Amino acid sequence: MKKLLAAFGVTAAFALSMSGAMAQGYPERTITMIVPFAAGGPTDTVTRLVAESMSKDLGQQIVVENVGGAGGTLGAGRVAQADPDGYTLLLHHIGMATSATLYRKLPYDTLNAFEYVGLVTEVPMTIVGKKDLEPADLKSLVEYAKANKDTVTVANAGIGAASHLCGMLFMSALGTPLVTVPYKGTGPAMTDLLGGQVDIMCDQTTNTTKQIQGGTIKAYAVTSAKRLDVLPDVPTTEEGGLPGMQIGIWHGIYAPKGTPAEVTDKLSKALQKALKDENVVARFGELGTLPSSEADATPAALKAKLEGEITRWKPIIEAAGQYAD
Ligand code: ASP
Repeated sequence: MKKLLAAFGVTAAFALSMSGAMAQGYPERTITMIVPFAAGGPTDTVTRLVAESMSKDLGQQIVVENVGGAGGTLGAGRVAQADPDGYTLLLHHIGMATSATLYRKLPYDTLNAFEYVGLVTEVPMTIVGKKDLEPADLKSLVEYAKANKDTVTVANAGIGAASHLCGMLFMSALGTPLVTVPYKGTGPAMTDLLGGQVDIMCDQTTNTTKQIQGGTIKAYAVTSAKRLDVLPDVPTTEEGGLPGMQIGIWHGIYAPKGTPAEVTDKLSKALQKALKDENVVARFGELGTLPSSEADATPAALKAKLEGEITRWKPIIEAAGQYAD
């Protein structure tokens, strides 16, 4: 649409008044929310809960589409190129910030390709292992992984994913790389962990809490400052001897650059309501996370978060020299 208007020499002012008119009736049809990871994983779980609640407020269905691959950059790229009409959105996490440095060539310019809707939640991570993995606690897992560095396998959702980031922190704490196995998301990675095809994974509580509670995987630590109510027996990384491994995975909703502010504001209001929806609050709680505050579920807060996180991670990634391309 953008290119079409330009090709016909449509003036910026006319395009602007058109977008204002379009925004007034928004939304008039189904919205697509892209998850840049496979179905069944933590980002997918959060997105489906929030999208369902937002769609009630907006009066239109929000269809969740999984576009996994390349650590979330394929899905983000799809949204960057979509029409800026509010009908294609992205729910992505911290990987939006880290991939800006991890990938020297991205098919989009992270800080200039998107508009912002708001922050959704910040999810702690867990270090988990397959059920019959030998070590009983984090300290012995560290020793075991060091002693078996050529055979211990670590699942992740590709370079730039939260699981990759957390795995990198774990390996840098060990002082040695391990064998990594990339997936299109940690949903399919969890299937392999349950089946015993991979040994360990670092993933959001939104994917691991139920499995830990059910005893189908082994939990070694949570990456939060305090233990979680839903996983009271799982020690923090600090308690387990890895104090540098505190990490929270923040998630936000984005729209393509040029999406009218009236549209992103409307979406932000719907997001704020969704984050107070009893069902969403209860499900987030069961999965070990909290909804973002009303002040954080705003375009300005997400923009500031993304900018701050790109600045924070850039020197860390550059010092590690571990690029995806
Ligand atoms: N939790 C995954 C990650 O490592 C992504 C996902 O499958 O939601 O970033």
